[in-house]
Amino acid sequence: MLDLLFLHAPSVYDFRRRATLWGPISDLVPSTPVYDMYPIGFSTMLAHLQGAGFQVRIGNLAARMVRSERFDPEDLIANVNARAYGIDLHWLPHAHGSLEVAKLVKKHHPEKPVIFGGYSSTYFHEELIRLPYVDYVLRGDSTEEPLERLMTHIVEGTEPCDVANLTWKESTGEIHVNPLTYVPDTLDNLTLDYRPVVKSVVRNLDLLNQVPFSHWLEYPIMAALTVKGCMQNCTICGGSAFAGQHLSGRQKPAYRSPELLARDVRRLGKLTRAPIFLLGDLRQAGMDYARRFFRAVQGFDGPVIVEFFWPVDRAYAEEFAAALPNFIVEFSPESHDPAVRRATGKPYSNEGIEQTITSCLDVGAKRFDLFFMIGLSQQTPASALETVDYCRSLLKRFDDGRLIPFTSPLAPFLDPGSRAYEQSDRFGYIRYASTVADHRELLLEPTWRDILSYETRWMDRQSIVDVTYEAGYRLNRLKREAGLVSTAMAEETESRIRAARGLMQEIDHLVATKPTEELDAALMALKPRIDQANTSTVCDKEELDAAVGLVPFKIIKLAQIGLGLESADWSVD
Ligand code: SF4
Repeated sequence: MLDLLFLHAPSVYDFRRRATLWGPISDLVPSTPVYDMYPIGFSTMLAHLQGAGFQVRIGNLAARMVRSERFDPEDLIANVNARAYGIDLHWLPHAHGSLEVAKLVKKHHPEKPVIFGGYSSTYFHEELIRLPYVDYVLRGDSTEEPLERLMTHIVEGTEPCDVANLTWKESTGEIHVNPLTYVPDTLDNLTLDYRPVVKSVVRNLDLLNQVPFSHWLEYPIMAALTVKGCMQNCTICGGSAFAGQHLSGRQKPAYRSPELLARDVRRLGKLTRAPIFLLGDLRQAGMDYARRFFRAVQGFDGPVIVEFFWPVDRAYAEEFAAALPNFIVEFSPESHDPAVRRATGKPYSNEGIEQTITSCLDVGAKRFDLFFMIGLSQQTPASALETVDYCRSLLKRFDDGRLIPFTSPLAPFLDPGSRAYEQSDRFGYIRYASTVADHRELLLEPTWRDILSYETRWMDRQSIVDVTYEAGYRLNRLKREAGLVSTAMAEETESRIRAARGLMQEIDHLVATKPTEELDAALMALKPRIDQANTSTVCDKEELDAAVGLVPFKIIKLAQIGLGLESADWSVD
């Protein structure tokens, strides 16, 4: 019998029957606006539990719903019988979908326990455990071992009094909050390759349920995790040092040892032609750590995406390029204005940004993606638009097509646990949601303006929307002039921005004029046009993807793993 079924919900469970203008909220992430990507923790927990002898599977309901209109998630929930069901509420935009999926599990399997986990579950554990369809909430950024203990109790029918990080309730309804004591200081005990998932796919003849996100089969990007926690304190980040300390009891980051990290990169590189995303800035663990990793990974020539949390000098860029010659940089200064950037917790200069671009491009970076954001502390509408002017000056200077700027709104929600959320007055944020229930309600609004959980002292919600569209429009034109996107692609983006702006006005008009009982039908009449405007609103998602060729997977290696025939070189590298 299956012990645990992990379920990943769409952000809004019945999104296919709703007309929601999501706008550009997911333009710069691999998933669609329903956030069909499951957290990396599903893979590490699946590997850990399988290693301990449990039968575990993943059901990515969101990705399946995106890929097929005919797929019925309730059928899957009803027909897969497991001892327990695990649901992620990691990112708060799942506040509607995750709870609806939990209700359906209880409807079809009333005796079976429902386990919640993830950052947002951790933050709101006391609210979640009071819901009749939630039995357990595992808290913290690392739950592999507590989950194994909990599963043992579930199998044996005993009470989980000794399970670290667990919030739970007895059959009488009495609630217990076990201490948050499982905070590992290393990631070396994690299995961070996709072999367990690949084996599970082959063993269960079940590919579609296990894909990390709907577009993954065409673009199988994979992540290598260097760290949990962060030393930086970006104002808007729920994964910052400040948030980690308060949410997960993490006093310092936990790193993967450099040699294991290099092995992860090599292993992932055997499966995919798409880039490996190296999550986290290696320099946080010190230069010795970075150099040990470079030595261990030397010779890997696949594409690797790397993020830098602060500027890079020429010497470091050279070391990086020598170890990973096919590297792509992601760098997020958020604003061209140093004062706004400082207010986001990134106190470096424009010279630092430009030095980083120069160094990385000079040593051969394949691409340099530069990310700016709208909705920041101290950022006025004029400042957000001046960022595009700054991009123009950069593109004049770095004109060989490898520097690609992006801009997107801080949306849809402020991260709970971040300084922007916890100290909103100090940073000039005005919050519209404080509970899971509040966020769930916001997700049912018809436009992303009204879904936003905040505005700032410098921009109200309408301004954030207007400025986002205008900045997206200007940046798109700039990219066309600079030859970064084709004329056809630029025209498509421009027409989507125009359509999205027009649709927001039409929706506002319907909301203002239609009686409540007629509103849903009137909105649904707009759905085909809304859906067209929803993906890639202010830039085309494909701009983010590196070329992977016609066959993005390394099929023979996948087959060997799936059939348990891994060659010797897999285990020694
Ligand atoms: S956004 Fe800032 S705080 Fe968050 S993970 Fe990145 S560097 Fe760390």
